[in-house]
Amino acid sequence: MSRKLRARFVAPERAAAIPVLRELFGDSAVSRAGVYAAADSSGAFHFITMRPFADKVRGRIGSYRIGFFPAEKRGARSEAYGNPEGFLEVTATNADTPISEHFRLRDFLTKDQTAVWPKYLVLREPLVDKLELVLAELRSMGVPANRLRVMSGFRTPQYNQQGVGTGGRVNDSRHQYGDAADVYVVNGSRDWMSDLNNDGAVDTRDARVLASAAERVERKYPELVGGIGVYTATSAHGPFVHIDVRGKRARWGAL
Ligand SMILES: [Zn+2]
Repeated sequence: MSRKLRARFVAPERAAAIPVLRELFGDSAVSRAGVYAAADSSGAFHFITMRPFADKVRGRIGSYRIGFFPAEKRGARSEAYGNPEGFLEVTATNADTPISEHFRLRDFLTKDQTAVWPKYLVLREPLVDKLELVLAELRSMGVPANRLRVMSGFRTPQYNQQGVGTGGRVNDSRHQYGDAADVYVVNGSRDWMSDLNNDGAVDTRDARVLASAAERVERKYPELVGGIGVYTATSAHGPFVHIDVRGKRARWGAL
């Protein structure tokens, strides 16, 4: 593992059963969704307790629209497609909480309902771990990689639904389960994929360099196996790579 995670996400029913959480923050605190700061030998660490899935009523929590997960409509096709156990509650003040060396809660939010707070997020630790490992792998390959930008992380089912059929979006997209991210490498000041293979152009070949780093990470850490998809640039976005930890190998796109 990357050893770069700076947060644990804890389902509400499990929070009370973790002795260190109760000792540090008390029984009543850990049963409320929130960000609890602790520290270990390497610095700040956050326990983030979730809102239970059942707090979503008629597709919303508060005024934040989430929609309905595939398993709520027709039963899960497998365990990996079951409903998430809960939601991280992201407020205007905790959105910048670091969850690993290079990522913050904010990076993974669905990109809609800009003015609505709190927002709700499904995110799985193995995804964040895999992204950290991909960044480290690029560097060990000698590829300049300052940061991995998350173009799209969690997508609420209602948001995902709007794009089904376009841009390869599917009904049962892993983005709804918090274990997928569409990413590209940013080195300069422009928020766009960098020229990773140093051939003077930014194109699909650069996305393939990023995908090859993800491939190497999967070989070293088989427990992080999942999807890798390579996407070419359009007028709306540069080339990018979809990475997920669905637990089964899947490959697609301009590999
Ligand atoms: Zn994707």
